[in-house]
Amino acid sequence: MLIPHSSQPSPVKGEGELQPLEMPTTPLSLLNRVFGYPSFRGRQEDIIRHVMGGGSCLVLMPTGGGKSLCFQIPAMLRPGLGLVISPLIALMQDQVDALVQNGVAAAFYNSTLDGGQKNEIRRQAQQGKLDLLYVAPETLNSPGFRDFIEDLPLSLIAVDEAHCVSQWGHDFRPEYLQIAHLREHFSSAPLVALTATADPQTQKEIRDRLGLAQDPVFSSSFDRSNIRYQITVKDAGREQLLDFIRTHHPGQAGIVYVLSRTNTEETAAWLSQKGVPALPYHAGLDANLRRKHQARFLREEGLVMVATIAFGMGIDKPNVRFVAHLGIPKSVESYYQETGRAGRDGEPASAWMAYSLDDVVKLRRMIQGGEGEEAYKRLGGQKLNAMLGLCETVNCRRKSLLSYFGEDHPGNCGGCDNCLQPPKTWDATVAAQKALSCVYRTGQRFGAGHVIDVLMGKETEKGTQNGHDKLSLFGVGKELEKRQWDSVFRQLVGADYVEVDLEGYGTFKLNPKSWSVLKEGQKVWLREDPPLRKIEKGARKSKSTPRPLVVLEGQESTLFEALRSLRAKLAQEQNLPAYVVFHDSALREMVSRRPTTLKEFAQIPGVGETKLKRYGTAFLEVLRKA
Ligand code: ADP
Ligand code: ZN
Repeated sequence: MLIPHSSQPSPVKGEGELQPLEMPTTPLSLLNRVFGYPSFRGRQEDIIRHVMGGGSCLVLMPTGGGKSLCFQIPAMLRPGLGLVISPLIALMQDQVDALVQNGVAAAFYNSTLDGGQKNEIRRQAQQGKLDLLYVAPETLNSPGFRDFIEDLPLSLIAVDEAHCVSQWGHDFRPEYLQIAHLREHFSSAPLVALTATADPQTQKEIRDRLGLAQDPVFSSSFDRSNIRYQITVKDAGREQLLDFIRTHHPGQAGIVYVLSRTNTEETAAWLSQKGVPALPYHAGLDANLRRKHQARFLREEGLVMVATIAFGMGIDKPNVRFVAHLGIPKSVESYYQETGRAGRDGEPASAWMAYSLDDVVKLRRMIQGGEGEEAYKRLGGQKLNAMLGLCETVNCRRKSLLSYFGEDHPGNCGGCDNCLQPPKTWDATVAAQKALSCVYRTGQRFGAGHVIDVLMGKETEKGTQNGHDKLSLFGVGKELEKRQWDSVFRQLVGADYVEVDLEGYGTFKLNPKSWSVLKEGQKVWLREDPPLRKIEKGARKSKSTPRPLVVLEGQESTLFEALRSLRAKLAQEQNLPAYVVFHDSALREMVSRRPTTLKEFAQIPGVGETKLKRYGTAFLEVLRKA
């Protein structure tokens, strides 16, 4: 391993004269001294031992689980260059920046470099001065790159985001298919494929395509125990969102997913106007602006990104404190992946969502109206149903979420809304019978609005024209309010007791499950929606004192802010994101341990030898002043 001479950043990471440092020789001493962490997590140690011995494998670990060290450490300890294939250029740069900060000889090689920079990296690699080289998949195919690596000894090949090789997945990258050739050429280098996408079909595809069928799979629990899940019914959309941010995450970074492009811009403007700095992001924005927004989100503290699903893949920002959904994602996989962008640093984070029947209908229509085979659409419908099931469940959400991925969780997690405040349920069999009969009697030609009017006995033009005011069912549902009927229909759709016809205007159609309620008296239990929140007009402040999820008070918070601004200054000087200097968790440890000497400072998790040298004195100074 080599340590760069100066702390000056250079356009080519790992560039400059490198000076050999006495090399830690075991994975654990390297973890302690270079990365500053006391011990391995989960299966990291097993994986590293396997790869050190020359073995290939597939690593399944949730986001934030610590996949990177599984290949970084063996690449540093084994002879030769570690080649890392990573799909996103922005992500690559951050990873290399973070490594260089720790004194690791790492670089990236992609289309953003000019000829001179590429030559420099070639030179370093050929002289054996690089431990890790990150490349984009499209780079693999360029003849220049092939010639360059052809004769290099490789310590390993790491394939990050390995699910991009799956042709059926939504992140498919055709260039990933080239990796198989690469592997043939470097048959003695172990291949480590890593992903946070868990489903068995994708796993199998990765193993087949990357030639890992005979190699072990190391899988960890996919539980993100630091994420708190909350799913609620949308009544006042944005206001609810604002309330959530102000109460739990004031001044913190987060992502808000919405269903349409216009909505990203409107919501971002609205949040900013309410004092929550927010930026929009969607695929229709000018590429430059998109890049700028992404860079600001990564580098600044406390920005909220309001985005469509176009945003997120490869967002490596570890201190995203919340992911909010205004509208329902199209599958549990998407929900898990999107919410998984919160709390990569292991600190408490939230996944919050508000949804309505309208969203469900919109999504169903999108799935139905999209291109593709019937079977594909049917699959889309089933996936949405599973997502709705997760929304409407009265049981532990974590348990339901994990069981979707085939993992058994005992439930009662204490970290989801249903566990924290168990929802009330009610026997809705009679209400469901009335609702479904009304759908039937009105000819299965209407959506929720009209059917509810009939149930509630509301005189309308549509009702009179169709003679629905003469039906015996007219007004039989007066015992419930309109919003309760909305809830009944939303849940009946969610549990597939009635179908929404998507050709027209979201009209309801009965299905065999409906008839089991109507004819066989199948019991229906529904959850009681919480009472509507009263939202006053205009700007409003939450009455309860905002309580952020991670609380530091008084002096501690002043000290934390002082450390944070030192970090911001150091990061800015080097044009790096702040978290590359230190994570929030390291700052928090400094606040609670109050180190006074370099030796004590070195004990803070995340402080390795290089960071100790670079930053120790400056941080101790701030700590001493406090
Ligand atoms: P992934 O790629 O699986 O999403 P990363 O490799 O980015 O996760 O790791 C997530 C975070 O956990 C990083 O901030 C990393 O420094 C930290 N981390 C990884 N392994 C350890 C460990 N053994 N001890 C403490 N922190 C760790
Ligand atoms: Zn729970």
